[in-house]
Amino acid sequence: MQTALHVYNSKNRQVEKFEPLNAPFVGMYVCGPTVYSEVHIGNVRTFTSFDLIYRYLLHLGYKVRYVRNITDVGHLLDDTSEDKISKKARLENIEPMEVVQRYTVDFHQTMGRFNALPPSIEPTATGHLIEQIELVQTIIDRGLAYESNGSVYFDVAAYSKQENYGELSGRNVDELMSNTRDLDGQSDKRNPADFALWKKAEPQHIMKWNSPWGLGFPGWHLECSVMSTKYLGEQFDIHGGGMDLKFPHHECEIAQNKAGYQKDPVKYWLHTNMLTFNGRKMAKSEGTGITPRELMDGDHPLLTQAYSPMTIRFFMLQAHYRSTLDFSNEALQAAEKGLKRLMTAYNTIEELPASANSTVSVEELKEKLYAAMNDDFNSPIAIAHLFEAVKWINLVKDGKERLTSDDIAALNTLMAHMIFDVLGLKDEASDDSSEKIDGLMQFVLRLRQEAKANKDYAMSDEIRNQLKALGFEIKDGKEGTTYTIL
Ligand code: AMP
Ligand code: ZN
Repeated sequence: MQTALHVYNSKNRQVEKFEPLNAPFVGMYVCGPTVYSEVHIGNVRTFTSFDLIYRYLLHLGYKVRYVRNITDVGHLLDDTSEDKISKKARLENIEPMEVVQRYTVDFHQTMGRFNALPPSIEPTATGHLIEQIELVQTIIDRGLAYESNGSVYFDVAAYSKQENYGELSGRNVDELMSNTRDLDGQSDKRNPADFALWKKAEPQHIMKWNSPWGLGFPGWHLECSVMSTKYLGEQFDIHGGGMDLKFPHHECEIAQNKAGYQKDPVKYWLHTNMLTFNGRKMAKSEGTGITPRELMDGDHPLLTQAYSPMTIRFFMLQAHYRSTLDFSNEALQAAEKGLKRLMTAYNTIEELPASANSTVSVEELKEKLYAAMNDDFNSPIAIAHLFEAVKWINLVKDGKERLTSDDIAALNTLMAHMIFDVLGLKDEASDDSSEKIDGLMQFVLRLRQEAKANKDYAMSDEIRNQLKALGFEIKDGKEGTTYTIL
């Protein structure tokens, strides 16, 4: 049983005890979205997995600085010299920064609906151009990058004489270097394995900046090296992202950091697995990239109904972050039922009858829950233990098991910690009822207003008094009538 947190470090391909470089502080960097369109729920799964990790670290008492970037400089599309953000801007006839703003706001709203905590710092690539140019220059000065026709490339062959390019992804550098297929058609490179640190901008390219090498824009991997170092230091605890980012993105980040700052930047690399559809990675290009909005509205040919944000979050947490999760209506419907059962049971804890002794052990449940979370954030096992508690709660209610009042209180606290703080779930039913109460109150206040307008003061006073007796205090002010729940 794990009594201390252990995490799977993808770099060493093993589970390791989590020992921050400078406890109780923890630095965590997660690659954020490229803001050129709405995120799909595959992206949301990755950010939800890191929200769980962030929440659990906070719950354990660590002081976490969580940095998640916004990629607002588009990467080049494979087959053109146009980047995704500029393409969207051209198609919609708006500024690239309008595209960026629109989808950054949308991303925040989406993650808010999934009850994800905002990161401590959310830096943008365009806000760190100076630092990126500086890092490129440093790597050139160290003889590990070269300029070629207005672009700058990382020299993988030179770097590999000192370091192991491929250490994270397990790729073989000789194979990479002998790969003659040149995907971008970049004849400027000395070697097909070399990657761009800075790209020369073609005249039609909109997002471009001045640099010592002429007008251009930074390579894809550069921003994360620069921003993680700026806000977390040259060495920090956790770097995360989806598994699809291991190569080339994270491999290149390590190479840039080692070349530029001469330090191995990250102690624990955490990679989340993919949300799949029929076993294939969910992707917009395959028509399976369902957006959160479509899911919440039930508005997609693959959906048989709408699902609430918490149902979707619960569905995601029922799989371990390192396992693939296959999207299906059946699984979401099961999650909807399961979540309801969990919340209903939680809401009845306070009403349980107290006994002189307990026949079930809350302490043991607590140990099992923390052991699951300490075992590389194993949320599906933790949820399975929560359902054990649901079973007991129902048995105690029926008088078939017993709990003392102290144990009832301990169970209440334990479940609240796990359900709300760690798993980050919300009780949508109670949210829903508060909305209903508000709607009802607005209606009653309107009736009272009408009574007053008709000079029926007996009725308007009667409404006020009855509401007061029910625990609602009414105040008439300049802006209209407001109420508070006493
Ligand atoms: P992007 O905006 O494409 O860079 O993606 C943002 C994050 O979502 C990255 O960490 C990706 O690894 C992750 N991601 C993309 N597709 C999926 C998927 N189908 N399932 C889980 N994570 C994904
Ligand atoms: Zn990144």
